[in-house]
Amino acid sequence: MDADIIIIGTGAGGGTLARALAPSGLKLLLLERGDFLPRGKGNWDPEAVFHHHRYHTDEQWLDGQGRPFHPVTGYHVGGNTKLYGAALLRRREADFGARRHHGGETSPWPIQYRDLAPYYDQAEQWYYAHGQRGEDPTEPPATGPFPYPAVRHEPVMAQLVARLGTLGLRPFHLPLAVHLDETRPEASPCVRCDTCDGFPCLVQAKGDAEMSAVRPALAHPNVTLRTGSRVTRLHTSADGRRVTGVELHGPNGTEQLTARVVIVAAGAVNSAALLLASASAAHPRGLANGSGLVGRNYMCHLNSVMLGLAPWRSNPTVFQKTIGLNDFYDDSGDADFPFPLGHVQTLGKVTGAVLRAQRPRLPRRFTDWFGQHSVDWWLTTEDLPRPDNRVTLTDTGRIQLHYTPNNRTAHQRLLRKWRGLLRRLGFPLIFSQTLGIDGVAHQVGTLRFGTDPAASVLDPYGRAHDLDNLFVVDGSFMPSIAAVNPSLTIMAQALRVAEHLGARFAQGDWHGPNGA
Ligand SMILES: Cc1cc2nc3c(=O)[nH]c(=O)nc-3n(C[C@H](O)[C@H](O)[C@H](O)COP(=O)(O)OP(=O)(O)OC[C@H]3O[C@@H](n4cnc5c(N)ncnc54)[C@H](O)[C@@H]3O)c2cc1C
Ligand code: SF4
Repeated sequence: MDADIIIIGTGAGGGTLARALAPSGLKLLLLERGDFLPRGKGNWDPEAVFHHHRYHTDEQWLDGQGRPFHPVTGYHVGGNTKLYGAALLRRREADFGARRHHGGETSPWPIQYRDLAPYYDQAEQWYYAHGQRGEDPTEPPATGPFPYPAVRHEPVMAQLVARLGTLGLRPFHLPLAVHLDETRPEASPCVRCDTCDGFPCLVQAKGDAEMSAVRPALAHPNVTLRTGSRVTRLHTSADGRRVTGVELHGPNGTEQLTARVVIVAAGAVNSAALLLASASAAHPRGLANGSGLVGRNYMCHLNSVMLGLAPWRSNPTVFQKTIGLNDFYDDSGDADFPFPLGHVQTLGKVTGAVLRAQRPRLPRRFTDWFGQHSVDWWLTTEDLPRPDNRVTLTDTGRIQLHYTPNNRTAHQRLLRKWRGLLRRLGFPLIFSQTLGIDGVAHQVGTLRFGTDPAASVLDPYGRAHDLDNLFVVDGSFMPSIAAVNPSLTIMAQALRVAEHLGARFAQGDWHGPNGA
């Protein structure tokens, strides 16, 4: 055996699970297709990040019609948390049941909020979550305060919060994963810069999975990381019940490694692709695909960016991502539309340089003026699980992502409502853009968990129903996405699975002569 546990992928799910299991003494081998994200001035250079896409993969996936596109995703130690906006929100209690939306109903989870609550506490601790309990009207119960105080609003943001309050809204401090000490700025690792949301952190102060999980895990002698190691296939025993080999392409060419337990944490799209690529005589439709659901029910949120401009008022805010709103989370508030609309948060500041990198044809004077005056928002609506929204592989093994957005009326309504509110707040010029199929940042749902093997791929502890030693801990386990950012829930479930695995190893499971 090369390891007790092989973990494929080191992002929010895989990295967190590795840190949780590291003190157990179990021999852990982390396989990561990417490398450590190179540190350098490019980390904070909008042109490098948004124009040259230096930290995004250059691979192309196909859409449902076979058209190629570049997915906005990256392969690094720490996974997509290296680039994330670090908003760490818990799902609401009602998000664990079936929610009625305008576009249909979501799927209930096999666990409740209370099952994840202690793991949310732990994840908030590890990832430096800053926030203020009691402000968000929809927040679920917690046993104590956030581990770190809320990130302060800069003056223009504080004024906006007050003005939103006069309109009857209840803005809250957005929970954020940054290693920030505002009482001692001179010693604070985080310097509150304007290149955080979508950028890697040059000073390593973001609570990402590399810094908060993988590095602490690697401090244990029983944990090994192999970078540049892309897993291409999982092999099973003849009866198909156990994974017996992990095939990878890495610096030493093609290799096959073995472990008692294999954890897939490659992200919702790549994990589904890996299982589909591992089809065999015992699993002709793809590994763990007895239900036929591997790759199905892909979700990624309906996400839009909205910029509000007041030409006569400038916005000198540097770190803008401090406000969240859930006033329309459970209900639009309108009698003619008794459905949820979603979540609103501020975006990292859209500066002139960011705008130029994304729209190189716009004149510099215009982009600079724009960046100096805009207040920038991120609007999210829940998209619903649909079997036809799915990951498949072409004959040559290329990833094909079939995705038709749903619940769009609710998202349009959220955009309309927010536009109206911004106008009332004195922003006459408003621009918005909805993300397309390349916006895979919030990918979840392709390997849903549940109690019924005919209606789910994984059991409630993330084990593939069809196999004894295959677990999944990335975003793919989610049967519904909710309208809050997904990372904290991925981390919490990874911690829950880690505890379960630790207990099973401690009781002697998987220690037979064949690892059975
Ligand atoms: C720009 C941006 C902003 C975001 N902002 C937020 C935010 O503010 N809040 C939030 O909650 N979420 C945010 N997200 C989403 C968040 O990053 C993801 O939800 C989270 O990282 C998903 O965790 P995961 O474990 O499922 O996958 P990842 O974190 O993507 O980890 C998957 C890992 O598997 C590796 N891998 C893939 N295939 C293979 C293979 N075949 N072999 C070996 N390794 C493999 C990848 O390189 C990667 O390291 C953002 C994402 C982006 C891109
Ligand atoms: S705001 Fe803080 S955590 Fe974010 S990139 Fe800047 S220094 Fe890093």
